Order: sequence, then structure tokens, then C-alpha cells
Amino acid sequence: MAHIRELTNLLPQPVRFGLRKVLFYGARHRCVLCLSDVREFRAHGGGAEVLDLRQVVGGIRREGDRCPVCHGVDRTRLIMFYLSIEADLGKSSLRVLHVAPEFGLYLWLKRQPKVEYFATDFDAVRYRHIEGIRPADLTAAPFPDESFDVVICSHVLEHIPDDRKALAELLRILRPGGRALLLTPFALDGKGTEEDPALNDPVEQDRRFGQWDHVRLYDREDFLSRMRAVGFDAALFDAYGTDSARAAALHLNPLEKLPIGRKPAA
Ligand SMILES: [Zn+2]
Repeated sequence: MAHIRELTNLLPQPVRFGLRKVLFYGARHRCVLCLSDVREFRAHGGGAEVLDLRQVVGGIRREGDRCPVCHGVDRTRLIMFYLSIEADLGKSSLRVLHVAPEFGLYLWLKRQPKVEYFATDFDAVRYRHIEGIRPADLTAAPFPDESFDVVICSHVLEHIPDDRKALAELLRILRPGGRALLLTPFALDGKGTEEDPALNDPVEQDRRFGQWDHVRLYDREDFLSRMRAVGFDAALFDAYGTDSARAAALHLNPLEKLPIGRKPAA
């Protein structure tokens, strides 16, 4: 099975997507992101001891959650949930920048008639299947001031040594009143952010931060403080507190709340 996976990884993503749609076809579940009908959703997360020790939401294992076709998970659907009820998608047009674009969320955003879609990533070659993807270093984002109404940036900042510079850039490229939807794995044990941006030791990074290429593990409150330090109005969006029936139907993680950073009006 492993060698089949390696071979299929060489195929272009739209082809892999089509193959997975056939392979995992079933009538039990429909993915709200990619609209595939599948037999089962799968487990994701876990694997590093620190994730359990520090109660890391967005990191610890979750059963029956991941779409086998687009690989969308609870946090991807949380972002969709927020946008679908908070972003006035049907009324006014929105310029949306999607950083490190998740494929299922990309498909969902492309179905929204009022969304003007832009995508970027540090390693844009990995995302050739995303229309118009632009390579960018978030600490020197190649976008003019006040370019976007919404920026989506999930599970990116924990990879960036100078996260304050990246946060300042995200604020700069938002229009006044615009919003950044920022997720990372978050430790909920109240013991603070663990970081070492200069560390270059994948084994040690995995042990301390929960993944070989992370340079920190954020405490969620500290993350909000860092957002405020660069000028965001920051708050946590609680899907269950907003519509618990819909949140449960989407199998959202009750522990996961979405940090929203609003750029103050000028
Ligand atoms: Zn899907």
C-alpha cells in the first residue's frame, strides 16, 4: 500500500482528487467542502507526546473527522462555518487571500459567487493545482497595503521564525475593518508559549513543538496577545456558542475556537 501511495503522490492533485473520489466513494457522508460522497471520515492528528501533554487543540488525534478526498478537517470546516455566517458572502464582494490553501476550502471558496479569490504560499510549487497561486514570504508579503477583506492563514505561523513580522504584514495588507482568520495548534494547558526560532533539529522540534518543522508551540492566550501587539483587535470565535447544532453537525472540535483579528477602522 505504501508504494501505491508514493506513486499516486507523483500525480497532479486534480488527478489524485478524482482517484480518491472513486476509491473512497460511499453513501454515508458528504464532505461540505469538496462535496464528495464518502464511506467514512478518517482520523488525523496525534503522534507526538507533547500534543497530549499540553492539550494541544489542532494537534491531538481526532477520530472520524478527515475527508479522505480533499483532506479537509474540523479546523477547515470551522473557517468555512465562520465565513458562511460572518462574512456576508451573499451580499457584498470580498477579496480573500488564502495562505497555504487547503484544497477543500479552496473548492468551497471558489463556489462562493461574491468571493474574489487569491492564494499564496512560501512553497507555491506544492500548490500548483490552486489557480493563480503566488509565491510569498509572509514576513515580506508582495501585496500592496489594504489589499484584502479577509486573510485566511491556518497552521502557518508556527513555522515562521519571525512571527511578529508576519503578523504585522497580515495587518498591513488588510483593509480597515478587514479580518484575519488565524489558526495554529494551540496548547490549552496554560503553561505559555514554547519557542526556539533558531532551533534547527527536527527531532528536538518534534519533541518540543509537536512537529519536526515547527519553531514554536503557542499558548492560545499568548497568541491573541501577539496579535494585539501588532495592532489587531483580537477575539476568539466560538462556533458552538454561535450555533451548537450546526457546529455539531459539522463535527467541529468543541475545544477549537478561531482567533479573529480585525484591523481597526482608520
Ligand atoms: Zn472533502
